Order: sequence, then structure tokens, then C-alpha cells
Amino acid sequence: MLSPFDLLIVGAGPVGCVIAERAASQLGWKCLIIEKRNHIAGNCYDRFHESGILIHQYGPHYFRTNSKELLDYLSQFTGWIPGNYIVKSSTRGELFNFPINLNTLEQFFKTSLDENKGKALIEQIREPIETPGNSEEFVLSRVGKEMYEAFYLGYTLKQWDRHPKDLSASVCGRIPIRFNRDCRYVDHDYQVTPDHGFTAMFANMINHPNIQVMLQADYLELKKEITPKRATIYCGCVDDYFEKKLGALPWRSLEFDFREYDKEYLQPCVQINYPNEHEYTRSVEIKHVTGQKHPRTTVSYEYPRSKGDPYYPIPAPQNAELYQRYQNLAEQETRENRVHFCGRLATYKYMNTDEAIESALKTFEGIKELYG
Ligand SMILES: Cc1cc2nc3c(=O)[nH]c(=O)nc-3n(C[C@H](O)[C@H](O)[C@H](O)COP(=O)(O)OP(=O)(O)OC[C@H]3O[C@@H](n4cnc5c(N)ncnc54)[C@H](O)[C@@H]3O)c2cc1C
Repeated sequence: MLSPFDLLIVGAGPVGCVIAERAASQLGWKCLIIEKRNHIAGNCYDRFHESGILIHQYGPHYFRTNSKELLDYLSQFTGWIPGNYIVKSSTRGELFNFPINLNTLEQFFKTSLDENKGKALIEQIREPIETPGNSEEFVLSRVGKEMYEAFYLGYTLKQWDRHPKDLSASVCGRIPIRFNRDCRYVDHDYQVTPDHGFTAMFANMINHPNIQVMLQADYLELKKEITPKRATIYCGCVDDYFEKKLGALPWRSLEFDFREYDKEYLQPCVQINYPNEHEYTRSVEIKHVTGQKHPRTTVSYEYPRSKGDPYYPIPAPQNAELYQRYQNLAEQETRENRVHFCGRLATYKYMNTDEAIESALKTFEGIKELYG
């Protein structure tokens, strides 16, 4: 039996690494991280492809945050380069700025606009739906039918295999519409990427004498053999923990096809969306973000799948209800057995990396108070 550890952490993703680092360096606790994959960093994992190009294995990760405090915390483990996050959408045979901004509106409606004219145009074309009840209504209420069909409908159908009518408004609600010419993908105050990649950042974070990592080890198979002295942090799927006894929580998955090209760059920017062409949703040339200098390039094509690694929880009311029932079991497990559920898989919640790390820091404060 393995038990000289204070804290057992299941999953070496961002959440597991942050909690291990805090507990080891602030409290001097001995931590064991067990991870079922053969690497750390969870879905933020990046590695060198056979071509020598640094790739994001599980989809592009555009790090951004509004929190200076969070950035300062992470800066102990990495330097940064600016995040060059530019996305275009390919529709009607042309590439448009995306999210929609004044340039998109001008190109799409073949007219010239300023901020006021742009707002007046949108007022004319948007549908007057006061409280949108689903994603279709949400987008119609913001940009009207023509742009909904050009930019959103096909992409959403491919991504979720569901009609936007059957998805909650929040799915498309994450996308801003701008009345300026800001071409950046997101609005956050800090948009940066680790200068040596995410895996290097998380490796530095857990490089501590009190932290031990076991790779290719599935907690669910080892559960009975490891008893931590203080608590367990579980970052795996919550339904797996309870052997799916209430039923399986559905996830949307992706398959990535990495192709290599004998040229320095293939695309004008990191990401191109294809709402109405191809089986894949987007093509990603991560070199635009990593800034790596290399004579060749690698582009990944993303195919949404209903089976595979769990990437996106499916935002539908029946899934939220099922999760709620698992959450009740999880809370009981915390009270009775000191198992704390944290992170994207354990809370059935889509979180960006900054949000996942914030939640890890909060969980750490909680366990420090309880067992410190
Ligand atoms: C396609 C995609 C694109 C994304 N793009 C962005 C982006 O642009 N910007 C951004 O900020 N965020 C992005 N994210 C989100 C980011 O990946 C997550 O916020 C972050 O990885 C969450 O950290 P986590 O530790 O909760 O989970 P994870 O990274 O999923 O780590 C959990 C770890 O637990 C391990 N595990 C699970 N079960 C067990 C078990 N039984 N035993 C042992 N180990 C186990 C898993 O193998 C995994 O390594 C993206 C996510 C996806 C899927």
C-alpha cells in the first residue's frame, strides 16, 4: 500500500499541478499525482511533432485572463510571449474576420461603415427576440438570419451534432460582436502564451521535492491501494468516480488530423473556421501562436465526434440535471471521505485554463483551511 502522502491528486492537468504545487510549497505536504495518460499538462499538453514543430495535441490553447494576480502566479514557472490569437471564418468563398467586427460587416454587406452605421445596420437586420431561449434565438437576436446562416448554423451543427435550437443560449453567447476593427479572437486584458509551451510551464510547476508523479496509472484501478493522510483531489470524470451508477454524462469529443506542409506558413492566421464546407470545423496552424521559426509547418484539422476523449460537456437541461445528482453524491463523498472534486471533468463544466486554475487555487484554500 502506498500511503506516505498527505495529498493524493488524480490527474496531472492544470488543476492537479496547481494544487500539488501550492500544497507542496506553501504547506510542505507530500503530494502524489497519478495520471492515466503518459504525460502531464492535461489537455493543455503540447509537444514536438515528428516535423520538429511544437503542436498543441488536444486542440489549440489560447491562454487569456483578466487577472493580473493569476498571471503573476503563473509567471513563477514560465516567461511569456504575446498571444497572437486571430481567427477567420471561411464562408461564401471568402475569409472574414471572426468574431464579427466592422470589417466583417463591411465585407459581408459590401458597404462601408463606421461604428454608428454598423450599429444601425445591425438594428435593421437583427430579430427582435427579447429573451432568447436557445442558441438559434440568441444569434438571430444579435445578427439576424443571413449572418446566422453564414457563420453560425453550420458550425454549430457540426460541432455539437445538434441544432442550435436545441442548445442553450450560452453556447453561442460566448462570442462577442464588435463595432470596431479589433481583430483579436478574445477581449481579455492579458493574452499571452508560455514562451516554452504549456507542458514546460506545468513541468516547472511540479518540479518540487515534495511532489511525485505516476504516469499511465488509472486511479479507478488503484483506488484501494492508495490512502493519503489528509485528502484526495479528484480531477477525473465525476460519473466515472461513481461507476456511472446514475448513467453516463455525455461529452462531445474531437479527432485531430495533423498534416505537415513543406512551406513556412499555410494560413494567414492561427485558426480558420469552416461553417459550411468540409467535415472538419476548423484548421489550426499553431506556429502563428508559438512564434516558432521553422521552414515547414503543421496544420491540425478538427473533426467533432460523439465518442472519444471527453472535451466539451453538452449544455442541455437533462445533462445539467444528471450532473446535479452526481454533484450531490460528490458532496457526500467530500464530507465522508475527504475526496474533493475539482476541474473540468469532475464538475462537468467547460472551463478555460485560467478559470480552471482559479478553481484550483480556490479548492486549495479550502483544503488548507480544513486539513492544514
Ligand atoms: C479542444 C479544446 C480546446 C481548448 N482551448 C482552450 C483555449 O483556447 N484556452 C483556454 O484557456 N482553455 C482551453 N481549453 C480548456 C483547457 O484545456 C482546460 O481548461 C484545462 O485543461 C482544464 O484543466 P483540468 O485540470 O480541469 O482538466 P484536464 O486538462 O482535462 O486534466 C485532467 C487530467 O486528469 C486525468 N485523469 C482523468 N481521469 C483519471 C483517472 N481515473 N486516473 C488518472 N488520471 C485521470 C486526465 O487524463 C487528464 O490529464 C480547451 C479545451 C479543449 C478540450
